[in-house]
Amino acid sequence: MKHVVVTGGAGFIGSHVADAFIERGYRVTVVDNLSSGDRRNLNPRAEFIETDIRDFDIRPLRPDVVSHHAAQMDVRKSVADPVFDTVVNVVGSVRLLQQCVEAGVKRFIFASTGGAIYGEPVYVPQDEKHPVNPLSPYGCAKLAVEHYMHYFREVHGLSTVALRYANVYGPRQSAHGEAGVVAIFARRMLAGQPVTINGDGGQTRDFVFVRDVVAANMAVAESTVAGPFNVGTGVETTINSLYLMMAKLIPGAPQATHAPAKVGEQMRSVLAASLRKPDVNVAEGLAETVDWFRSA
Ligand code: NAD
Repeated sequence: MKHVVVTGGAGFIGSHVADAFIERGYRVTVVDNLSSGDRRNLNPRAEFIETDIRDFDIRPLRPDVVSHHAAQMDVRKSVADPVFDTVVNVVGSVRLLQQCVEAGVKRFIFASTGGAIYGEPVYVPQDEKHPVNPLSPYGCAKLAVEHYMHYFREVHGLSTVALRYANVYGPRQSAHGEAGVVAIFARRMLAGQPVTINGDGGQTRDFVFVRDVVAANMAVAESTVAGPFNVGTGVETTINSLYLMMAKLIPGAPQATHAPAKVGEQMRSVLAASLRKPDVNVAEGLAETVDWFRSA
């Protein structure tokens, strides 16, 4: 039986990835410090090690595959405390990469970001050749780890692949951080509270459903391709139209209010979906997500 370690496997995306590996017959070990994850997301068939990736030693486990999803993933927090962000997201990842070489790991999959690595588009949709100009320490850290992965692959022969996610949404997403706009809107609208749209709401994002993100992970888990690969939809959605689509699903939700635009907020983001075309469009994914929040 193949063994995969999923770091961040108690979180939103990592828990869905852990479920998918279990379905495919893998032995799964989740490593998570529960800083933003939730015990309720853990698959009962997964082993769970509650620890910080900065203290964790993967070498005794000698897994076949490592799926690295643990991260300080709050963009604003990275701006407020770039050193902490670097220690978790860069140093934590490099430690893990080094140990994976020593443990003979066969495949290392990294949850990178398209939304935060490319910066304001020079052209759309942004493909993997688009210039990389991260506008946050979080984006800088993810890009740095991609460079380290290249080093570990070329010099030490570690098979690595980076997946650059767009704005992921779906069941189990928590309402913290900036990436969670769908989760924040769903929670508030279902509770009958108004949501706040920053600026005029014309800013765009590429919303990709978590099941398509899981499928991308499965597509690269047993190959040797290196990437980086975007994981998005190629479809640009304004925050205003996101709100309107969700309002249709939640009858009686209060009108959205507008606040001043956030300084430095990216105006557009949309990724070319080159690795695989998504199975789920935004309307379908939002319906499933709202249903989940309704029953949660
Ligand atoms: P999440 O917060 O739900 O998951 C992150 C998990 O990592 C949590 O369970 C958290 O407890 C754990 N964690 C954090 N710091 C840790 C540490 N030092 N040691 C051990 N565990 C730690 O967020 P998510 O949205 O599921 O994000 C998963 C990954 O995908 C992250 O690497 C994130 O940067 C990346 N990503 C997410 C998005 C998105 O739209 N959600 C977009 C691009 C990239």
